[in-house]
Amino acid sequence: MIIDCHGHYTTAPKQLTAFRDQQIAGLKDKSQRPTSTNLGITDDEIRESLEGAQLKLQRERGTDLTIFSPRASAMAHHVGDEATSAQWAEVCNDLIYRVCKLYPQNFVGVCQLPQVPGVPPQNCIPELERCVKELGFVGLNLNPDPSGGWWKEPPLTDRHWYPIYEKMVELDVPAMIHVSASCNPCFHATGAHYINADTTAFMQLLTADLFKDFPTLKFIIPHGGGAAPYHWGRYRGLAQDMKKPPLAEHLLKNVFFDTCVYHYPGIELLTKVIPVDNILFASEMVGAVRGKDPETGHFFDDTKRYIDQLSMLSPENRTKIFEGNARKVFGRLDAVLKERGLN
Ligand SMILES: [Zn+2]
Repeated sequence: MIIDCHGHYTTAPKQLTAFRDQQIAGLKDKSQRPTSTNLGITDDEIRESLEGAQLKLQRERGTDLTIFSPRASAMAHHVGDEATSAQWAEVCNDLIYRVCKLYPQNFVGVCQLPQVPGVPPQNCIPELERCVKELGFVGLNLNPDPSGGWWKEPPLTDRHWYPIYEKMVELDVPAMIHVSASCNPCFHATGAHYINADTTAFMQLLTADLFKDFPTLKFIIPHGGGAAPYHWGRYRGLAQDMKKPPLAEHLLKNVFFDTCVYHYPGIELLTKVIPVDNILFASEMVGAVRGKDPETGHFFDDTKRYIDQLSMLSPENRTKIFEGNARKVFGRLDAVLKERGLN
């Protein structure tokens, strides 16, 4: 089974955006607020939104299962207040649940949290519990910067975040550290803000000893880990200067990287630098980069091709990247698949 651990519902039916527009209009004028969280999306509309996109690409590329979450750039935790964010997360997560019900062989859910800048993240625990316990989700996307590019929250190693970590450990769910839209014009969302955040999160984890307090906590740093693998020598050296243990011991029991790197040399570097046990296959399709690479004639985000091309990878290690590591990191995944008769 080839498991893509990073996909978003970027093709959701237009009623979802209409609902969000109403929510935003309702912030200024209460009479505009949506009166119901029933979006009026039919099962056929969901099928249509996926058949020509994620499902088609799964079939064409030969991948089996996508760990699927709401559109990351639309989480926009900086918009509105706690009530806005709670309602928006619920609506988005419910839609992912419906996708997983309609296509149990193709999708497993990961949730969006109702984060709000300046609000302690324990406000997210009820939605996280609902998604894991009632909807069968296996992970969450945790936004280290709900302000959308202004970095107002304490670092991920601060006690501010501990309540959500305690719940993650209890539920045995990993978090993908994933920012959302950027409201800072200095940072392009997917080109700069995402990659900055990946790198920033890694460095935050390096400077502290979070995993002494949470030895079983698991994070996935997406987009190939931002700049971390490319600058691995810098990070190893910084850790050494700070009298931290070697990175393998300090971070790599808890921190994993996905393969959303959109060219072969990048994937080759990732797999040379980062231990194979810490790499999870992912493409983030349909997502950040939608076009074809004129140099290869293939989609930039068809990351399976790059991994297939890695001749130095043993069959055993290839299976770890494509399947085994995802089953380890997403502690509830095996049970969910078994329930669906897919083990
Ligand atoms: Zn993403």
